[in-house]
Amino acid sequence: MENNMKKVYAICEKALHSGNLSKEEIILLLQCPEEQSDIIFQTADAVRKKEVGDQVHLRGLIEFSNYCKKNCEYCGIRGKNKSIDRYRLSQEEILQTAIRAESLGYRSVVMQSGEDPFFTAEILADMISTIKSHTDLAITLSAGEFSYDEYKIIKEAGADRYLLRFETSSEELYQKLHPDSDFHQRIKCLHILEELGYQVGSGFMVGLPGETPEILADNLLLLQKLDLDMAGIGPFLPNSDTNLAGAQGGTLINSLKAVAIARLLLRNAHIPATTAMGSLDPKGREKALQAGANVVMPNVTPEEFREMYQLYPNKICLRDDPAHCRKCITGKIQGLGRTVSTEHGHSLKIDRI
Ligand code: SF4
Repeated sequence: MENNMKKVYAICEKALHSGNLSKEEIILLLQCPEEQSDIIFQTADAVRKKEVGDQVHLRGLIEFSNYCKKNCEYCGIRGKNKSIDRYRLSQEEILQTAIRAESLGYRSVVMQSGEDPFFTAEILADMISTIKSHTDLAITLSAGEFSYDEYKIIKEAGADRYLLRFETSSEELYQKLHPDSDFHQRIKCLHILEELGYQVGSGFMVGLPGETPEILADNLLLLQKLDLDMAGIGPFLPNSDTNLAGAQGGTLINSLKAVAIARLLLRNAHIPATTAMGSLDPKGREKALQAGANVVMPNVTPEEFREMYQLYPNKICLRDDPAHCRKCITGKIQGLGRTVSTEHGHSLKIDRI
C-alpha cells in the first residue's frame, strides 16, 4: 500500500507538468483510497489554476423538451417511460427564458432536450438564430444525434457549441445501455461536430453497471483522444422509472477522481461541476470545483417544467427560481475564493475560435 502511495505521488508530480498518463497510471489514481486522494485533487486544482485560472463560467441550462424517441436504459425521460408528463417549450417561451437568463447575468446558455422529432434541424436553427438576434448569448446545443447536413444547418444558424456525451468507451456496455444507438455513430457525430467548427463537449457517467476500472480509464483516455473543448462527468444515479432502478449508483469520490484525472489529461478544457454531483452531496459541486472543475450549469428552465426533466432522481434546485439560483451559486463560488466569469467562456483551445 505504501508503495502504491509513492507511485500515486510520482504520477501526480508527473501530471503537474505533462498531461500524458498511461492507462496503468490512471487506474492507479482511480484505485487510490479515499482518505489518500487529496493529493490527486490538489494536483488537479493546481493544473486548473495554471491552465484556466480562477474564473468559473456559468452556463444557464434551458431544458426545452423532455420528449425523446430513444430508450437509454438509465434515463428517466426515455421514450418508453409512460409515468412522466411530457412538455415542449414554445419558441416564444424558449426566447423569453434565454432573455431572462441574460438579464440575470448569464453570458452563455445550454439548450438541452431529449431526441425530440418535433425539433428538426430547421426548427432548432430558427430557435438559435432568434435567440442570437435578441441576445448576445453564446449558445450550446445538446439535443442528440443528427446527420452532417443537419448539424451544418444548426451551426450556420449561430450555434457555438454542442454537447454529446458518449457515456462509456466500452462498445459492449454502450450497446447494452443504448438499445437504439450505435457507439461508432456516436463517435462519428463528435468528429462531424468538430469538423463543422463547433466547440465540442462530451463525457461519461461514473459507476454504470458493468463498468470496470479499465473502462473508466479508457473513458478518460477517450476524452483526451477526442481533444475536446468541454468534458462533462457525473455519477450514474439509478432512476426508479428504469430497468436499472435497483442498480448500485456511482459514488461522489469516484466521480471526483474522474474529474480530477480529466483535468490532468485535458489541461485547458472546460470541465463542469455537474448537477448530478450536487445531487449526491450538498457540497458535491464545490468539491468538484476544488478537484479541477471550472464550470457550473445552473438551471434556468421555467420552474413549472423542471420536475418533468429528471434523467436521474433527487435532482437539486428543482424548485428554486433562477434569480435565487444565480445568487446562491455566486455565493458558493466566491466562498471558494474564485470569481464568476463575465465572459462568454468560449473554448481555450487556440485553434477553435
Ligand atoms: S439519455 Fe438522452 S437520448 Fe437517451 S433516453 Fe435520455 S434523453 Fe433520450
